[in-house]
Amino acid sequence: MNSVANNPSVKLLINGQFLESQSQQWRSVINPATQKVLARVPFATPAEMQAAVASAQAAFPAWSKTAIGTRARIFLKYQQLIRENMSELAALLTAEQGKTLADAEGDIFRGLEVVEHAASIGNLQMGEMANNVAAGVDTYTLNQPLGVCAGITPFNFPAMIPLWMFPMAIACGNTFILKPSEQDPMVTMRLCELAMQAGIPAGVLNVVHGGEEIVNAICDHPVIKAVSFVGSTKVGTHVYQRATLAGKRAQCMMGAKNHAVVLADANKQQTLNNLAGAAFGAAGQRCMALPVVILVGEAQAWVGDLVEKAKTLSVNAGAEADTDIGPLISCTAKLRVEQLIDSGLQQGATLLLDGRDVRVAGYPEGNFVGPTIFSNVRTEMRIYQEEIFGPVLCILHAANLAEAIAIINANAHGNGTAIFTQSGAAARTFQEQVDVGQIGINVPIPVPVPLFSFTGSRASKLGDLGPYGKQVIQFYTQTKTITSRWFDDELAAGKVNTTISL
Ligand code: NAD
Repeated sequence: MNSVANNPSVKLLINGQFLESQSQQWRSVINPATQKVLARVPFATPAEMQAAVASAQAAFPAWSKTAIGTRARIFLKYQQLIRENMSELAALLTAEQGKTLADAEGDIFRGLEVVEHAASIGNLQMGEMANNVAAGVDTYTLNQPLGVCAGITPFNFPAMIPLWMFPMAIACGNTFILKPSEQDPMVTMRLCELAMQAGIPAGVLNVVHGGEEIVNAICDHPVIKAVSFVGSTKVGTHVYQRATLAGKRAQCMMGAKNHAVVLADANKQQTLNNLAGAAFGAAGQRCMALPVVILVGEAQAWVGDLVEKAKTLSVNAGAEADTDIGPLISCTAKLRVEQLIDSGLQQGATLLLDGRDVRVAGYPEGNFVGPTIFSNVRTEMRIYQEEIFGPVLCILHAANLAEAIAIINANAHGNGTAIFTQSGAAARTFQEQVDVGQIGINVPIPVPVPLFSFTGSRASKLGDLGPYGKQVIQFYTQTKTITSRWFDDELAAGKVNTTISL
């Protein structure tokens, strides 16, 4: 952790002000293609955390009573500002995160879709009513905001994932504290600036920076009612346990090891393109990447074609035109991925394509690893057991679909999966039997649009309700159920009723 005082500092957002932290502890935000230090980010102090919570708490009474139309129009304005600033946001995202400019725009766009959805909050937050549940009695529900909510986000989607969280929470009438990834907080902060420009009132959105300490402070703070987390299984499990122990709602979207299943009747070229894109795109740093492929039956003969397809991908800085694979987020991440590749060799897998020692002209310092493919992978190997989060594809074989499904269901994670086939019957069997949150049928990265919610199963998710979409409205609101009777003269003249009936 360096203290790089000469670099521009990433600000806190407290009570509508972008503030310089008083912290003594800072770390550098580094361009992963060049190692250039772009900024320094603080580890916010306990007093700053307290100020953020106090500001969110003070803003809640007025914001929670703000008219639906007023709340919705802020998000209409916000989506426009994001669109107008798309290129600048993408360039910032690529500089600090490494992914290609096109992929950075995709990252922002998938978040923008949630902002658009937040603009329909009037429809989404409506309660239900049943007329005449008993004579003269109606029952209806109110979905009311909770109070101060918080979000903790990972490095790999620094635009999309913060936008999964604060727009929906705030549109529901909550106030919010965001804790972005300390590895790439700059684009997140730019999105927060635009949100304030769109008209979010002071105190409704606050941002604190840091790592373990600030995350623990969020989990423990008695004023915070709900915590949304996206990140690794290890940290997410800790956050879930700590936040729920403190009486909060928590939803934690966590790590993954997603499998593709390829049947021999699949459209071959389309499938190979999809597999290469989903295994190696964003340098494999997507929770919905496909780092494992199970070739079923005669599809086992496609290994050579898959390797040839992977060789066509260009490894370069994300800001360069025609780049397919950018650098990994940090030197530590590169070292870890290379060590896992070493472990695959030591444990007897066959290395068909080796991305270690890739050289990128003009970027000798970049954290690059090229596409890497192992065959003869066994499920007890580390390269299969661990989430590599790099451009490394493990190929397994199965005699039939049932065997492939059994492999997937025996894996600890259940985030995403995809089947490639032209058989509707096989696809249907797959969707029925596989215990995974997101399922693609000839769709490699089936991240649901915001009409639905992101889901997840087993070690990939803790909590009942997913982020964004319909489920998050339930997460960010408290339902009250009201049963009412208004007496008119005729109904008023009754006897004492000691039964449970209305
Ligand atoms: P991470 O778990 O290291 O960090 C996530 C957040 O937790 C960050 O804000 C970080 O500051 C904080 N944090 C880190 N260590 C902590 C600790 N010891 N105690 C408390 N807080 C801590 O995750 P990452 O490396 O930033 O992101 C990659 C991971 O996120 C992968 O496992 C990936 O699969 C997962 N992910 C999951 C989804 C999903 O929707 N399921 C989406 C994106 C990423």
